[in-house]
Amino acid sequence: MLQTVCILGATGSIGESTLKVLAEHPDQYSVFAVTANSRIEKLIEICKQFNPKIAVVPSVHVDRFAQLLKQHQLQHIEILADEAGLLAVAAHPDVDIVMAAIVGAAGLLPTLAAVKAGKRILLANKEALVMSGEIMLQAAKQHNALLLPVDSEHNAIFQCLPQNYLQLETNNQPQLGVSKILLTASGGPFLNFSLDQLQTVTPAQACKHPNWSMGRKISVDSATLMNKGLELIEACHLFSISEHFVTVVVHPQSIIHSMVQYVDGSTLAQMGNPDMCTPIAHALAWPKRISTSVPALDLFLNQQLNFQEPDIQRFPALALARQAMRIGGTSPAILNAANEIAVAAFLEEKISFTAIPEVVEFTINKITPNNAESLDVILHADHLARDVARQRVEQLIGGQ
Ligand code: NAD
Ligand code: MG
Repeated sequence: MLQTVCILGATGSIGESTLKVLAEHPDQYSVFAVTANSRIEKLIEICKQFNPKIAVVPSVHVDRFAQLLKQHQLQHIEILADEAGLLAVAAHPDVDIVMAAIVGAAGLLPTLAAVKAGKRILLANKEALVMSGEIMLQAAKQHNALLLPVDSEHNAIFQCLPQNYLQLETNNQPQLGVSKILLTASGGPFLNFSLDQLQTVTPAQACKHPNWSMGRKISVDSATLMNKGLELIEACHLFSISEHFVTVVVHPQSIIHSMVQYVDGSTLAQMGNPDMCTPIAHALAWPKRISTSVPALDLFLNQQLNFQEPDIQRFPALALARQAMRIGGTSPAILNAANEIAVAAFLEEKISFTAIPEVVEFTINKITPNNAESLDVILHADHLARDVARQRVEQLIGGQ
């Protein structure tokens, strides 16, 4: 039986890798729905190749998208618009699997809609889980959704944990002989830059990751190490453990994608060439395995595996995220929102690279976090944090 897939964020980097894996297994998967925010031409190309039933675009693009579909004799594809469209495809009764690959907070409600509809969710959109934490996990339990990590580190950890670990009640303590999670980080393009050098780096430099090709926002997050901070929070939620059981290890080659340590002295690592098709294929087919075009690891070519501690003086974002997780409640949502505003301002060349963690820290210190008891409380914290962060960005632009 063909399984049907909805790809939220089909035109992005993860969307593209997902389509690549699906194209290799047309006998097992069909693309039911795809969504895009701005790259309409790219979405047309995807529709030509995969012929989905539904495509979702923002309402400003609907007319032009309909015209283009017609030009390519694809007018049978139904068009839905805006957030209502995203929610509808994420929860569509004919969809089996949802790839959550929208970037940032915009992915929260569609991902939650998929969770509440009890889907198998391949979670790339880490910001959604960072913001909503327990609420998303409780909803997954309640609605029997399967939340599988696609983020390469979390997918690696999942592969190294005992089977059924995700179903355990852990009380924030590692279980079944697990003692620690080692979350690896490449260190990004500026691993060896001095603080002085970091002041003047450009968006183009920040978006040029040494090992991975990714969207612009996550590329900047990787360069500030905020990505690792968000991943630390993501790991605490996914594997239900306190932050002090997660150690960040800088491993510049990105061959080991993360590790799990056990009480008997064992350390299990998942390794592979850095290509998102591997974790995507793993989450798609789990507990089975399907092939990808990713070449097998050749250890004779990759003879050096290095490890070092992260430097939180030069990369304070990591410490800020750890602090937000320790505080809990709406803190991670505040951290995430401030970071989204700061990264956008950096990409528009309004603020410097080193101002990104500064804006985040300012915002965290300005807002008192609450218990994240409902989605409304979380969304309110998100909006408030965006306002405060925008004000700080304006002050920085004004030289204050
Ligand atoms: P990207 O920028 O390449 O793609 C983002 C996708 O989201 C696009 O399809 C875009 O149309 C859509 N989108 C953006 N804003 C939207 C909005 N407001 N409403 C609806 N759709 C919107 O990003 P990416 O690199 O593919 O990353 C996607 C997610 O996956 C992020 O959360 C990222 O952290 C995570 N992730 C990415 C990678 C990677 O290698 N790229 C690895 C791990 C996790
Ligand atoms: Mg990652």
